[in-house]
Amino acid sequence: MKFANDVLDLELIAKAIQNISSETSYKGLAEALLREALSYCGIGRGAVLLSEMGKLLAKADADFPHDEAWIFVSQPPPRRCRLSAEIKERVIHLQEAVVKYVSADDAAFVEPTENSPYITQLFLPLIRQGLTIGGLYLESGQDKGIFTDKCISVLSIFASQVAVSFEAARLFEALRETNMWMVEGQEIGRMGSYRYNPRTQLSRGSRECYRILDLDPALNPLPWRAFQDCVHPDDLPGVEQALANTINTASTYRFEYRVIHKDGSVHHVVAVGKFDRGPNGEMELNGIIADVTARKASERALADARNELTTVSRLASMGELAGSIIHEINQPLTRIVMSAEACLGWLERTPARQDDARKAMLRVIEQVYQASDVISGLRSLVRDAQLKFADIDINDAIEEVLELLKREFEIGNVALQTRFDRSLRNIRADRTQIQQVVLNLVRNAIEAMLDVNGRSRVLTISTTAEEDHALVRIIDTGTGVNPSMKNNLFAALNTTKEAGLGLGLSICYKIISAHSGRLWLAESTDSGATFAFTVPF
Ligand code: ADP
Repeated sequence: MKFANDVLDLELIAKAIQNISSETSYKGLAEALLREALSYCGIGRGAVLLSEMGKLLAKADADFPHDEAWIFVSQPPPRRCRLSAEIKERVIHLQEAVVKYVSADDAAFVEPTENSPYITQLFLPLIRQGLTIGGLYLESGQDKGIFTDKCISVLSIFASQVAVSFEAARLFEALRETNMWMVEGQEIGRMGSYRYNPRTQLSRGSRECYRILDLDPALNPLPWRAFQDCVHPDDLPGVEQALANTINTASTYRFEYRVIHKDGSVHHVVAVGKFDRGPNGEMELNGIIADVTARKASERALADARNELTTVSRLASMGELAGSIIHEINQPLTRIVMSAEACLGWLERTPARQDDARKAMLRVIEQVYQASDVISGLRSLVRDAQLKFADIDINDAIEEVLELLKREFEIGNVALQTRFDRSLRNIRADRTQIQQVVLNLVRNAIEAMLDVNGRSRVLTISTTAEEDHALVRIIDTGTGVNPSMKNNLFAALNTTKEAGLGLGLSICYKIISAHSGRLWLAESTDSGATFAFTVPF
């Protein structure tokens, strides 16, 4: 038996302490202490109870309070265990180490396995920061000598180790709980966290981060190469550029890109991050990544719906206009034809009925004037349309249109560049009408780029201040304006498109003229066109 040996077996004690302190849960700690204590003393019966901050053990109770103990382990099982009030009082309240040689009837374990009439009990308090947090109880059928002073000293070392580890376990439990909440929170919010070290090019990420990127969690730390592989190839240069900027300027990182999952599905993610010193003192990018695929889908649905609405209303207003032109002009035209035919009829008679022919000819002239009146009436209708002038921020108005057209840019695979002069003064204009102009010009530009292959499709829209007006330029890399169109570009019903109405540019022209501005084709080559318009401040 170990205690019979006078020399403390340091190696044995060190091993026992190691075993105890390797436990990180309360139950594991209690079990380790009991196991080591029983094995050290070479006996078979004992118990350990642990409570939180001593509050439970402060209660005096006739029975060993195992059913109230927060953690209780014993050998044999707890059902058959009780402890005298006296021993409990001395250990728990007075914090003494108690050794008692008592009648077997007083044994804590109701049916001791030895047949001896007496037993020896040892009860040691577990103390942390002055509070009793539990107790170690051992019982043996042998006489008092079994628990020597040395044995008690060793067990006290075990007990104090448990008290220290108990605190570590408490912190560990708290951390695990916080971590669990964080993991659950990340799962619910579809948001992961990561740290990236630019020197080692390695990242560490939360579970959700791996899930969002569809990467194997075993790849930890994650090499940059593995991350690159999951990013959509079209987005990778942008991601690398944004990261390089963040590293160079130590600024905040925010980037939206697509990742491709192993099943081929494409997911939209947003990553944000900022540099700070990591656990090892090196500068690291610390950030959050969120899966925004669902949000994107609903944004797209919304854009589609809006788009459909503007297309419908645009077509409706153009169709209406075209309809009214056709209707108003058709009537005098029909009458002109009828009168001209009648005139021919009178002239073909022998002899020709000159008077009647003359009358018919006068009717033709009259109808022509009427038609011309209809046209000028329509013209003034557009020109004098009630414009609602207000001070407007043209950049803002344009941005709203571009937002509306987002989907068309996506479908046409057209990249958008904006160069807004943010210091521009407000212009006096009808916001909706100016937006209609921008909408038409941008749509025309996108359409002109659809036929272009082999070079990038880029639409650049810029605003600048010129003396007393704002200048807007819409530059595309499309086919350029067909030379046959150039002379009558802004005339109504002039189109090269199969389904075109040829009204867009003429309406734009009228709207800009009504604002006392100017609209013109600034440049057109076979590598693109530039339309420009001005609106006074
Ligand atoms: P529609 O678009 O219905 O044809 P528009 O009046 O808007 O009517 O345009 C008239 C014509 O001008 C178009 O059919 C096209 O040939 C030409 N056009 C307009 N914008 C551009 C552009 N950005 N690039 C090339 N051609 C253009």
